[in-house]
Amino acid sequence: MALTYKDLKKLEDLEQLYPKHILDKFPIAGKGVWKDVSDEDWNNWIWQQKKRITNLEGLGKAVKVTKDESDAFEKSHELFHMGITPYYAVLMDHDDPNCPVRLQSVPNPGELSILETDMEDPLAEERDMPVPGITHRYPDRVLFYTTHNCPVYCRHCTRKRKVSDPSTSAANAQIEGGLAYIKSNTKIRDVILSGGDPLSLSNNKLEHIIKSLREMPHIEMIRLGTRNLVTLPQRVDDALLDIIAKYQPVHVNTHFNHPKEMTREALFTATRIALAGSTMGNQMVLLRGVNDNLEIVKEVCHKLLLMRIRPYYIYQCDLSQGISHFRTSIEKGIEIIQGLRGWTSGLAIPHFVVDAPGGGGKIPVGPDYIVSRDGNKVILRNYEGKEFTYYEPEELAPKKMTK
Ligand SMILES: *Cc1c(COP(=O)(O)O)cnc(C)c1O
Ligand code: SF4
Repeated sequence: MALTYKDLKKLEDLEQLYPKHILDKFPIAGKGVWKDVSDEDWNNWIWQQKKRITNLEGLGKAVKVTKDESDAFEKSHELFHMGITPYYAVLMDHDDPNCPVRLQSVPNPGELSILETDMEDPLAEERDMPVPGITHRYPDRVLFYTTHNCPVYCRHCTRKRKVSDPSTSAANAQIEGGLAYIKSNTKIRDVILSGGDPLSLSNNKLEHIIKSLREMPHIEMIRLGTRNLVTLPQRVDDALLDIIAKYQPVHVNTHFNHPKEMTREALFTATRIALAGSTMGNQMVLLRGVNDNLEIVKEVCHKLLLMRIRPYYIYQCDLSQGISHFRTSIEKGIEIIQGLRGWTSGLAIPHFVVDAPGGGGKIPVGPDYIVSRDGNKVILRNYEGKEFTYYEPEELAPKKMTK
């Protein structure tokens, strides 16, 4: 009989599913300096949440903290807390402050410079809020903020203004208000549970939300936007998978940015989610010094597919305050997409988008493969730069030469 998620209880059980050369691409993270902690505690997400690194003393146990990092911590933690799960901390390089996992989770002096062009709410998510906790920008789908909390506070977070701030916490009344809005708005067919990270909620609370949505006849898709696969894969317990399996179709969207994050533990959790019946997508952010490199992006995308996660978006880094040190040129993203198309599996190629400052929504940008057009004659180039001519039906071609 086929395996179910309940049959996968420990990492070794993956050996029943995947060949060795695939498993070998996903090294086991293990417990690092927490080697004396029992497996029971380590695999318990409440323990991981409780033991999060939130101060310099804790950080010093995991890595050799630099002066830049400790200065940046002192000056930033009031504004945007530090929070790192022991699991994610194990992935950090002890000595190298430029480690991609470290850059994403430990305060950096770059955060302290706020540019004139930076914005507190670059995507105008508050403006498009009909009720607290819902951003309704597109006709048929909404973002639903269910919590302000996340296991790891990503230094590049676009929602720094809210995330980690308990005063923005989605109280029960706000969740009920959001559900009531979605219920009364029958044009909505797709709800994206977001935050913070919705998996910071208890299974009971999450089930209440998902069950309520499933009872609405106009709701077709439910999406769970979560970075727990990356920062706290232990969160995905049997009880959560039972919920995911019970209210299908539930799509899970996650946020891997670097191959170092793609561990055996993450593969284990992704596999269990796939067995619970969900498709998965990945929303990567292009970050200078972390993944602004074709080979790194390609490796992430290849590994994602092995985890049954489809690369969905690469985001240009937003204009949120204090993340300008992470930003790349838009050209860099276009160059990466061009380096993927044709050179690797089409399934491995995400859409590169700029989420328009001011709330214009996601704008796809990419290389232009049309070289020129003249009447019904269109000259295209392929991935290798070779040119080819396509003749459109004459009666459909534009009259004038456009370019
Ligand atoms: C990204 C986003 C969505 C979802 O967009 P898709 O392209 O459908 O994934 C919905 N609402 C808002 C406000 C968003 O920012
Ligand atoms: S998990 Fe998402 S919402 Fe939470 S801090 Fe990271 S980027 Fe922000």
